[in-house]
Amino acid sequence: MTESPPRAWAEIDRSALHHNLQVARRHSGKNIMAVIKGGAYGHGLVEIAKELDKQNLPFLGVANTGEARCLSKEGIKTRPYILGATLQSEREEIAAYGWTPCLCSFEEIEHFNQLGKNSQIEAHLALDTGMGRGGFLPPQLGEALKKLREASGIKLTGVGSHLPVADEDSVFTRKQFELFDSMVESIPGRDEKFHVHLSNSAGLLDYHSRTTNLVRPGLLIYGISPLPANQEFLKPVMTFKSRVSVINHLPKGHGVSYGRTILQRDTKAAVVGLGYGDGYPRSLSGKGASVVLNNSLCPLLGRVTMDQIIVDVTELDACHPGDEAELFGPNFLVSDLAIKAGTIPWEILTQITPRVTRIYR
Ligand SMILES: *Cc1c(COP(=O)(O)O)cnc(C)c1O
Repeated sequence: MTESPPRAWAEIDRSALHHNLQVARRHSGKNIMAVIKGGAYGHGLVEIAKELDKQNLPFLGVANTGEARCLSKEGIKTRPYILGATLQSEREEIAAYGWTPCLCSFEEIEHFNQLGKNSQIEAHLALDTGMGRGGFLPPQLGEALKKLREASGIKLTGVGSHLPVADEDSVFTRKQFELFDSMVESIPGRDEKFHVHLSNSAGLLDYHSRTTNLVRPGLLIYGISPLPANQEFLKPVMTFKSRVSVINHLPKGHGVSYGRTILQRDTKAAVVGLGYGDGYPRSLSGKGASVVLNNSLCPLLGRVTMDQIIVDVTELDACHPGDEAELFGPNFLVSDLAIKAGTIPWEILTQITPRVTRIYR
């Protein structure tokens, strides 16, 4: 007996990942820290890390020690970089494995300095140039550098900051680049091996820095542009799919799904085998979202349920049980679906649930 295939699955296109990485490299002209936090934005942490491990990147950006540990246990050679402040209870492990933390507070400097007494810890310095999520403010930089000069347990190998509005406010972001560049220029003794990084995906697409030699794209390497203008150069890595289970011919005036959305015409209604239990957002209910079925965009009908959705296929010439549906992917971008759902593509991608089988091609 063979195992039956999954109801809902996500096809992950490895060649698209490499294409997007190449776009990031060429567009920025800089080294890449690929950001793979959040289970590689729902694409599968370890599989994506293995793919990127062949690319000679200086770092893979992760959110926490759990993600870093997964990489180390799988024998990934590229260094995990912990994005954001660390908890006290995480630092011994960070030091032991040689993951790279970014130092966000005097307390972190002191603690890592102690932990590095026998074997120096390589770390970056985090600057707060507008994000307000950790890092030293401009007036604190001098004091932080002084503490680091005295901290023999820490080897400072880089400096970074983060952009809160690179896809929303170019006036602020340009000022932020200028502030960051001038702060970096005040750090003495930098050589070309010293990592200087500021840009996320939106930052690397649209802005220029005098000092950076590394960029930290996330969304972009998965083939989704934070700015619609650059989408044409990218290839979406994930296609989220399911299948039609049954087609119901329902009369005008009949209700569909919870809450009974009333049909305005006689309708051919296809049931597709996934729902919010797979990460297809319930907030899409009644928002004019579409599903790609047999190369056509078909409207979602009524509310999204946990395991099934209902799609209007009245206009399709042919639709049969077993037909594949694309919920998002190259033919219907997750960024467009996110707008309908009132959220952002980052959230939709990271909320695809574990029961969705990832299939790597
Ligand atoms: C998540 C994150 C990124 C990547 O952001 P994208 O917008 O997905 O490119 C870069 N830097 C930091 C500090 C992050 O937390």
